[in-house]
Amino acid sequence: MVDGVTVGAKGQAITVLGAGVMGLASATELASRGHAVALVDPALGPGEQGCSWWAGGMLAPWCEFENAEEPVLRHGRTAIDWWERHAGGVTRAGTLVLTLGRDRRELHRFARRTKGYEEIGGNRLAEMEGDLAGRFDRALFFPSEAHLDPRAVMARLLARLAERGVSLTAELPDDPGRIIDCRGLSARDILPELRGVRGEMLVLRCPEVKLARPVRLLHPRVPIYLVPRGDGVYMLGATMIESDRIGAVTARSVLELLSAAYALHPAFGEAEILELGADARPAFPDNLPRIGRIGDRLYANGLYRHGYLLAPAVALQIADHIDTGEKPEFWHETEN
Ligand SMILES: Cc1cc2nc3c(=O)[nH]c(=O)nc-3n(C[C@H](O)[C@H](O)[C@H](O)COP(=O)(O)OP(=O)(O)OC[C@H]3O[C@@H](n4cnc5c(N)ncnc54)[C@H](O)[C@@H]3O)c2cc1C
Repeated sequence: MVDGVTVGAKGQAITVLGAGVMGLASATELASRGHAVALVDPALGPGEQGCSWWAGGMLAPWCEFENAEEPVLRHGRTAIDWWERHAGGVTRAGTLVLTLGRDRRELHRFARRTKGYEEIGGNRLAEMEGDLAGRFDRALFFPSEAHLDPRAVMARLLARLAERGVSLTAELPDDPGRIIDCRGLSARDILPELRGVRGEMLVLRCPEVKLARPVRLLHPRVPIYLVPRGDGVYMLGATMIESDRIGAVTARSVLELLSAAYALHPAFGEAEILELGADARPAFPDNLPRIGRIGDRLYANGLYRHGYLLAPAVALQIADHIDTGEKPEFWHETEN
């Protein structure tokens, strides 16, 4: 027995709090193993209230390794197949990393801190992304990376959960069984070490520029990325500000993000701004996820800037813990 629940018992009653990427991935993994899962979210699904709504959807473990710990690379590599298996719609086209000429040192620095890339010249770049031809003479190409549309994959996970009989309610059921808390930043009431890292983004329509894959433009102060969503629509992100303020996007951030996009390609100056969004990424002090127990509830949180990249691995660890009692790699001992 663990926490009064028989370890290994299939068909356990489990209630997952939160229908962001962490809650949906956990519910998916548990339901696929035969547990009787219920989902609870006061918003009745993924939406603007959740950080997962605003994400770029890059599955970029090699690029993220620039600033992340080894587990992000190791577990992030497995995320691409997990998403393909459970939601589909993953585009495996790699990532391009560029700098403007004056920031060339940033490209060398990035190359030193990452791996899994090819250094390419202007001709190869022009073959890959015709609209960048003649604009850059050097780039790093990360061929094994991928991207997805966060809102689309969350909708598909939710639909598949409904097909498996997983209910989604606004309130905790009378008999919730074992509770797994995936409330993101809202869980600060029980996780005081959780902090917010504000991210701001725009959605642009710019059919004049056709990019097949995410492009990161390095800059010492304002690095940006563009993630193609299809039909000339791009997610442009994202600021990284040590603040949990979730108010509207600031003028300065819009100016900086758009100026960088304009430097990547001047046609972005004519783009339509479809959306402005901001949220705060839930993060622990080491910026790695944690699985733990507070009282009689398990929690999974702290996905920081790696929600789509790490939710599959965290969900697998949670499900293994429930099935076998095994202590997850991301386990964090909490003093109750
Ligand atoms: C601009 C931006 C870009 C990003 N880009 C990427 C990217 O490219 N790749 C990547 O991997 N990650 C990215 N991230 C990070 C990623 O979005 C987060 O790590 C992730 O969304 C965190 O997910 P979560 O499920 O823990 O939290 P959330 O998405 O915030 O979900 C929490 C859910 O809990 C619900 N909730 C609140 N209170 C309760 C309650 N009492 N009971 C039940 N439910 C409750 C909320 O309604 C919400 O739906 C980005 C983040 C930002 C802000």
